[in-house]
Amino acid sequence: MPGKLAISGAAPMLRREDYRNWPVITADDRRLVGEVLDSGIVAGATAPQVAALQKEWAEFLGARYCLTTSSGTAALHMALAAAGVGPGDEVIVPAYTFLATASCVLHQMAIPVFADIEPTTYTIDPERIEAAITERTRAIIPVHIQGCPAAMDPILELARRHRLHVIEDACQAHGAVYRGRMCGTMGIAGAFSLNNLKNLCGGEGGLFVTGDEDILKKGDLVRYFGDECDEATLRQKYNSSILGYMYRNQELPAALARGQLLHLREHNETRIRNAEHLSRELGRIPGIIAPFCPPDCRHVYWFYAVRFDPQAAGIDADPRRFRIAVEKALFREGVLVGQWQTMPVPAQDIFQSRIGIGRRYPWAINEARGITYAYDPHDYPVSQMLCDTYTNVHSIHPPNGEELNEKVVGAFRKVFDHLGEVMDHADDDIRPGFDGRLYGVG
Ligand SMILES: *Cc1c(COP(=O)(O)O)cnc(C)c1O
Repeated sequence: MPGKLAISGAAPMLRREDYRNWPVITADDRRLVGEVLDSGIVAGATAPQVAALQKEWAEFLGARYCLTTSSGTAALHMALAAAGVGPGDEVIVPAYTFLATASCVLHQMAIPVFADIEPTTYTIDPERIEAAITERTRAIIPVHIQGCPAAMDPILELARRHRLHVIEDACQAHGAVYRGRMCGTMGIAGAFSLNNLKNLCGGEGGLFVTGDEDILKKGDLVRYFGDECDEATLRQKYNSSILGYMYRNQELPAALARGQLLHLREHNETRIRNAEHLSRELGRIPGIIAPFCPPDCRHVYWFYAVRFDPQAAGIDADPRRFRIAVEKALFREGVLVGQWQTMPVPAQDIFQSRIGIGRRYPWAINEARGITYAYDPHDYPVSQMLCDTYTNVHSIHPPNGEELNEKVVGAFRKVFDHLGEVMDHADDDIRPGFDGRLYGVG
């Protein structure tokens, strides 16, 4: 008997043409990128587009200082170096995030210690942070994951109590707000990414934000070889005073980011509207758990994740198997779903093997003193539960809107109305995911 779903041969509910790509390119982008080409100035720490982007981003956030960087990861590393985090120091990061939140710590020869996340917001759990603090802890990097603000008040409070630096990984949270404060402005420094996927896109690049003049000066040195500029001649001294890197950005990405920034508020509004539409409709379907935005916060939905609960859907199946089966059926209906992170970060090979740099550095520094790091994935059950049960729905970004939302909701309803048929195809060879073109990848 022919089935009702696309996974068993029926016509899919959506076509790839129903989706529109990110980023949205406007006349503002063309004008600003054109200004660079007309000016002939393509680089430089005080070049016009870079300088303007720094000023405009600081104004957007209400922050004191901003430096453009070559990536969000570079901005995170600059913050750790500027805060004086060093070899053998421990830095607490969430177990569910992008690798860079943890690898920037390794770049500073410090050791990432993972804390599990909260089951509703998927952001780092302050109680788990407290339990992970040792005499070696120097900093905490909360991540505003997928655009959802982390629980900053409890984090800032315990950081004060234990004299720890807070560095915000706001790479997914341009314009997100926590109880009246902009994400990225609450810690000693904040890092934003400008990569093609992110809410504010420059192609690649990053933004380092701080309110502290000392952190700004150190961050600036770390950004550019540790070499200072001669104040009289404005020329590079070619005499590095500290260890630095080459983390500058340049005029073309800065110009594109400025053009995008002119539309960030409106684009975030669209994301929020799309997310609220999906959450309202999908949240009514038994077995679907829509994302949560904490009270007094503004979630900016970089990505939109739903979780599936087989029990609530009336299906007797392992949650991971159920999620994979539902993903496959949705994907065949033409819904662009798929996972971003597939495992807690400490489960990745880099932490399981701890090969690191040279002879197991930085871990060897503390291992010599009898301190070991297990990175046992079982220690992060909430992150594991999330990885087992979530999928991202890739329709949230502008210029997608109402029309696509309706189609996506229709496909979810159809799939959840035929879960028996979905489970019959649980082992089909189908690989859900989105094509990179959706996010400007060539
Ligand atoms: C994107 C991202 C980064 C890194 O940004 P890049 O600009 O790609 O280096 C860091 N942390 C999180 C949480 C991210 O999503």
